[in-house]
Amino acid sequence: MDNAEIADRLDAFAAVLELGDANPYTIRAYRRAAETVRDSAVPVAELVAAGRGRELRGIGAGIEGRLRELVATGQIAELAELERDLVPDLVGLGRYLGLSAQRVIDIARALDVHSAGELREAAAAGRLREVPGIGPKTEAQIASALARETEARSPQGVWLNRAWDLVGGIARDLDAEPAGDVRRWCDSCHQLAVVRAASRPDAVLARFAELPQIVAVIEHGERHAVGVTVDGVPVELTVPEPSWFGTALMRATGSPDYLAALKPLPAGPNEDAVYAALGVPWCPPELREAPFCGEPPPLVEVEQIRGDLHCHTTWSDGRVSVAEMARAARARGYEYLAICDHTPAVGAVQGLTPDDVRRQGEEIAAVNAELSPFRVLRGIECDILPDGRLDLPDDVLAELDWVQASVHGGQRMPGAEMTKRVEEALRHPAVRCLSHPTGRLINRRPENALDLERIFDVARAQGVALEVNGLPARLDLSGEHVRDALRAGVPIVCSTDAHSPAGLDNITLAIATARRGWATAADVLNTRPLEALVGCDRRPAGEHSGRPWGASHGAAASREGHRERRAVGDRGQRKCGNADQRSMSWRVRVLVG
Ligand SMILES: [Zn+2]
Ligand SMILES: [Zn+2]
Repeated sequence: MDNAEIADRLDAFAAVLELGDANPYTIRAYRRAAETVRDSAVPVAELVAAGRGRELRGIGAGIEGRLRELVATGQIAELAELERDLVPDLVGLGRYLGLSAQRVIDIARALDVHSAGELREAAAAGRLREVPGIGPKTEAQIASALARETEARSPQGVWLNRAWDLVGGIARDLDAEPAGDVRRWCDSCHQLAVVRAASRPDAVLARFAELPQIVAVIEHGERHAVGVTVDGVPVELTVPEPSWFGTALMRATGSPDYLAALKPLPAGPNEDAVYAALGVPWCPPELREAPFCGEPPPLVEVEQIRGDLHCHTTWSDGRVSVAEMARAARARGYEYLAICDHTPAVGAVQGLTPDDVRRQGEEIAAVNAELSPFRVLRGIECDILPDGRLDLPDDVLAELDWVQASVHGGQRMPGAEMTKRVEEALRHPAVRCLSHPTGRLINRRPENALDLERIFDVARAQGVALEVNGLPARLDLSGEHVRDALRAGVPIVCSTDAHSPAGLDNITLAIATARRGWATAADVLNTRPLEALVGCDRRPAGEHSGRPWGASHGAAASREGHRERRAVGDRGQRKCGNADQRSMSWRVRVLVG
């Protein structure tokens, strides 16, 4: 067995565990193990046979046992059994139609059907009403859902990280290009698509149907197919002639509104050729939402980020120590990392008391002594209490390098009250950034009733930045709100809110979201060197003659920033803001230690 085959079986095991509604951590562990095995440079079968399976990252005793069985016998017995019982293709189709796994299994048993195709035939033959508990109304609902099943759209939407795992994995296995909503980095993905060029499409289509991620193919075409995953998410594969690849990729990427405003797409082997034939500059996928034919601005890149300003450690609900988080950040090439653990009012997890904050400060000082010139910042994610006060005394907050203010409890407050609460916190002199400003949880909880326009005004006047939180469930601010914030002259910070070293990877999601809001490096505070960020006062303009935040990283960079802004303003894409006129100031002070 080679690594790819082993990885496929582990992925399949994760999929059936998911069907059986197993513990999400176990499911994730199997997915990670599959990834590790796939990427491993050594033959994993040999390693496992030699009893050294646990030397692989993320392989614990449980998974090692499965690997031994797989290598010794060529299969995982429990997987085979679960696959027989759970009929993943039926469950996938059922979930796609809006039925729970249990419900679809009950229906399949009652009708004695064993595949998605048989279920469809039974429904067409009017046999659904034979199932106990299915009346004419439910039958009609299922029949109409089956009739519209060719729409490759997930009604409930998938978080961006999961969508990337899925689409990225399928694209890798088919040597295809990810397209659809993930390529535009939508915060909730409905349209999952990949595109693969081939003169003869049959082999690609066949391979697609065999992928462990795809449990049933619900639509077959000559050059396309729609498959569903075990969670019922449809994925569309397009296999154009190589001379049409660029055209097909643009179509599959969308958005429909963006494409509709372009002239009919000419044939092209890649996107550059298609855009050139249209006479339109190439457009980053993140900006392909509303119609746009202009020259795109130089959007911020992950490589421009110099540090993460929001993460957790075992002092609150993080999984590793200050030192481990700091080493992980340094290994990414960062220059700094702010440790922002919770305060007591957060409730569900432990929060830091003033005494804890000072003890953590000593630990941070020790880590800084070891890792210098890398710098760990003493930060906090301080709860904003219902009355707008902060959850730590002023003298403690004043000691810190970086204070994030957050609303956690009481999100259902009426708009006026909530806005006043957050405004009050922004006026506190220690606060540098507002975390996950709208409090939304994608597909779970709507934004709170905050008056964002008002908050942008206060943030600008107070010199407080707004966060683009990279947690896949949050992505808060959203791209749209980022654009509004930048128009209002408020800088943003792209952070991950990481609770483990792996969580730092979510910087990609934070940056993509900022890019969807047309952010350039000049708009993102943590593209700047440390001395431009910390140890400087934030003051409303006029209080002193400090340097504007936009000019803090050298004259050349500043000129560059102005040019970008002017160029963007000329195209009418963003209200032009000269950094010198902004009412925000950051006074630079030499740092000690
Ligand atoms: Zn938070
Ligand atoms: Zn946090």
